[in-house]
Amino acid sequence: CGIVGYIGKQDAYPIILKGLKRLEYRGYDSAGIAIFDGQDLNVCKTKGKVADLQKKCESEITLQGTVGIGHTRWATHGEPNDVNSHPHYSNSGNLAIIHNGIIENYESLKTELQNRGYTFSSDTDTEVLVNLIEDIMINEEVKLGKAVQIALNQTIGAYAIAVFDKTKTNEIVVARLGSPLAIGVGEDEYYIASDASPFIEYTKKAIYLEDGEMAVVRLGKRVKVRKIKDDSLVDPYVQKLQM
Ligand code: GLU
Repeated sequence: CGIVGYIGKQDAYPIILKGLKRLEYRGYDSAGIAIFDGQDLNVCKTKGKVADLQKKCESEITLQGTVGIGHTRWATHGEPNDVNSHPHYSNSGNLAIIHNGIIENYESLKTELQNRGYTFSSDTDTEVLVNLIEDIMINEEVKLGKAVQIALNQTIGAYAIAVFDKTKTNEIVVARLGSPLAIGVGEDEYYIASDASPFIEYTKKAIYLEDGEMAVVRLGKRVKVRKIKDDSLVDPYVQKLQM
């Protein structure tokens, strides 16, 4: 299982697709991509291989756009099928998430959200998390980064996540606990991936998040890393990649 993201000036789809291929060694049963075309988030996902995804995407959706996220899934909650594949959307359609790991307490969170009117189209723990984030943004009137932090402090489990809000398209919020997550730092562009292999051909600078950290990856800004638990700022160590 793996995650890939891109935000910058290049076409995101080929970078993300190639990145997913590089992460195939991690194992997976389905794959998906969402690309923001300047107006809409176009999602394409399928059970099967990245090559199947490529075939499906290129016949189905608009793939133009300079920001996007991609995922290979190793199903833990909900069978491997097209609907359970990531990315998952929040009820408003504004937020898209990719997630590796498990949200252990997703059932109680799901019940609470259902009581507040949220509906779910998949059987995944991940779709619960993205709606929890949305619910917090609405109820507590906070931005995406803060909402992700509050949501994660209500979860038990393991994750590497990337979340994108189509109403605030210059940033991607990422977090990690128990699953790896690296940020590639380019010139006016950022890469996100489970390891550096998807972006090493574009940049040799990487920030590896530690367990319990999250980051707001915003164009034109330095990556801001915080501890999820106590909100303290972390000075990110930018590693020089060899190879
Ligand atoms: N728990 C999530 C799911 O079943 C993510 C699985 C993964 O790590 O790929 O959809």
